[in-house]
Amino acid sequence: AKAQGRDGIIVFNDDLAKRVEYHLEIERRLYFALEHNEIELRYQPQFNKERKMIGCEVLVRWNNHEFGFVSPAEFIAIAEKTGLIIELGNYIMEEAFKTLSQWSENEIEIEQFSINISVRQFFHATFVEQVEQLVRKYLNEKIVKKVVFEVTETILIEDMQRIIALMERIKRLGISFSMDDFGTGYSSLSSLREMPIDELKVDRSFVSHVGEQRSDELMITTILSMAKFFQLKTVAEGVETEEQFQFLLKNNCDIFQGFYFARALGKEQFENFYKERRGG
Ligand code: C2E
Ligand code: CA
Ligand code: CA
Ligand code: CA
Repeated sequence: AKAQGRDGIIVFNDDLAKRVEYHLEIERRLYFALEHNEIELRYQPQFNKERKMIGCEVLVRWNNHEFGFVSPAEFIAIAEKTGLIIELGNYIMEEAFKTLSQWSENEIEIEQFSINISVRQFFHATFVEQVEQLVRKYLNEKIVKKVVFEVTETILIEDMQRIIALMERIKRLGISFSMDDFGTGYSSLSSLREMPIDELKVDRSFVSHVGEQRSDELMITTILSMAKFFQLKTVAEGVETEEQFQFLLKNNCDIFQGFYFARALGKEQFENFYKERRGG
């Protein structure tokens, strides 16, 4: 039993060492990737109840010739741990703002434009100043109103007063807030009521079980009716089927995003998609 225990520890240490090594390697390459334009932005369209495209969510992609495609779910988490998320997040925001300003110059009119903000980025000492500076550089008063910052329930690691103060400063610029992955974390009704958020996103993990899992359907209907009560806009992510779309429609969801409608598109792809749809 002792030997087994020892083995267990050795295996654990070995795993840990490998994991640390892997993280450092990813970080090193990610840093390089930032400098060499391997980080690309994709734009996943969002649709209203009439299936009209009304906005998009910015999703980052890392295209490495050696590693191939690395999922953001993986490298964002690593960038959060190492702190590189600050530089990466600023880069994403700047590229996203550039795109949004170009689109309005080229008469690509969307109502909202969502950017994911990670928790460490949100609480970083210079975040608000960074946002202010980039808004000043790229967006006028009309365009900045389209910007939505998606945050997750993990921001609740800090106290509510600090969260609210930061949000209010950003909202004064015209930017709104969306609560992403709602229902997967630990936020309570009261924290939802306290925060100055404008939108709720129903997580894909619930949407994907529509028609299969009653408890997930119940989560969705509860989230949607709660959002209505608080007068929040609602977005469902990960809509893959007509059945899911119909269920969400019936429960009065406002906005829909998912492979059923469109995948995340490159900038030019998005522009073409828009023009085809609008006949422009
Ligand atoms: P998220 O914010 O929940 O983004 C939604 C994810 O679901 C995206 O994965 C999107 O491609 C995927 N998705 C959308 N519709 C469907 C669908 O119908 N079916 C399926 N199976 N998947 C769908 P992605 O792009 O791999 O991003 C994963 C996560 O990485 C995001 O989850 C977000 O947490 C993070 N992330 C992505 N881009 C950024 C970014 O620019 N900044 C930060 N901080 N995080 C980001
Ligand atoms: Ca998101
Ligand atoms: Ca999600
Ligand atoms: Ca998320």
